[in-house]
Amino acid sequence: PTAPPLRAWRKGTLRLHLPRAPRQRPRPPKVKRQGRALHPVVKNKRTTLSVSADALPPLPKGEVLAIHAKFAVLSKAPPLGELASEARLRGLFWKRKDRAMPELTDLSYVRALCEKYDFALSKGFGQNFIVNPGLPPKIVDASGVDKRYGVLEIGPGIGVLTRELAKRAAKVVSIEVDERLPPLLAETMAGVDNFKLVLQDVLKVDLKALIAQEFPGMPVAVCANLPYYITSPIVMKLLGDRLPIESLTVMVQKEAADRLAAAPGTRASSAISCAVSYYATSKMMFTAAPGSFYPAPKVTSAVVRMEIRPTPAVQVEDEEGYFALVRAAFGQRRKTAANAIASGLGMPKDAVTAAIEAAGFDARIRPEALTLEDFAKIQNALAR
Ligand code: SAM
Repeated sequence: PTAPPLRAWRKGTLRLHLPRAPRQRPRPPKVKRQGRALHPVVKNKRTTLSVSADALPPLPKGEVLAIHAKFAVLSKAPPLGELASEARLRGLFWKRKDRAMPELTDLSYVRALCEKYDFALSKGFGQNFIVNPGLPPKIVDASGVDKRYGVLEIGPGIGVLTRELAKRAAKVVSIEVDERLPPLLAETMAGVDNFKLVLQDVLKVDLKALIAQEFPGMPVAVCANLPYYITSPIVMKLLGDRLPIESLTVMVQKEAADRLAAAPGTRASSAISCAVSYYATSKMMFTAAPGSFYPAPKVTSAVVRMEIRPTPAVQVEDEEGYFALVRAAFGQRRKTAANAIASGLGMPKDAVTAAIEAAGFDARIRPEALTLEDFAKIQNALAR
């Protein structure tokens, strides 16, 4: 079948798929049609077109990200499948890599950087670096930070997310525990002057003092791709320390994200869901596949955003006792709240059952069915 004739020269742009390592004069690259269709009849067909190396000007070594070719198609359309061979190159341009901003999500760059500094990624520190270029902007979008914000980041790694944050916020302070990382960060964050590194274990930092010192007068947000092995302690510290922050946006393991975002009184809830709801409102933002990280973790990841409430969701007199009760209730899987609380708090089962009933619940109720207010009622009944 022949395609109907085209009316005139059609113009467009093709992206050339470069051979792996671009040389001075690359091998004739395959050209794939991209963007708008050349002709309605061939709309969904892939047309490839070979360009002779002679048609390409000498390319700068190792700096080219992509070559684009301007093309035009002859007025008389050739038979289907031969369309591309009828195209004429009208010009070439290419996108250079920005020297000041190396591609931190480029796996070969990451490997070369690690090799240069003799750095082996540490499983123990939960190091899975983002290599999906779409992720950092998406995480920063989810955090809602802009030029007014001071951002606290936990675990900058080699700075993939850090750099996106620094681009969009007023100031970024990143806390990193791995003492081998500063030289790598010095290279990847070179020229970024609104960034500061604090080399410490986040669980040992006086965050209140740090925030007061680094972000005076600024709204503050936490944004991080957390080390998964200490997700809960970090989130609990960030919430429980009553820091002057507006929100936390964190990338965590999907299962952890489900718990952080679960509403108390629903099936997926747990002690941490209750703690999060007490201090904040939370929302599951999006998930990320293992392949978005290097090395790829075994699990799917997800981003959760928590917005700190001006005052806790429920008023309780003894906050410490309240959380001890919640933790005890969820402390033993598949037990009723009464059994778990009795064993967790070391109280007689009868007394706990009586308190749960006095608070208006069935003695066999499961902890997942209890809301923050319900726990407060049980706490009051226990204190009586
Ligand atoms: N932000 C980088 C990214 O997204 O590619 C790295 C994220 S990686 C999942 C977690 C980072 O947290 C690592 O750089 C790790 O060294 C750091 N880390 C682990 N434990 C920490 C701790 N206790 N305090 C501060 N940083 C920690």
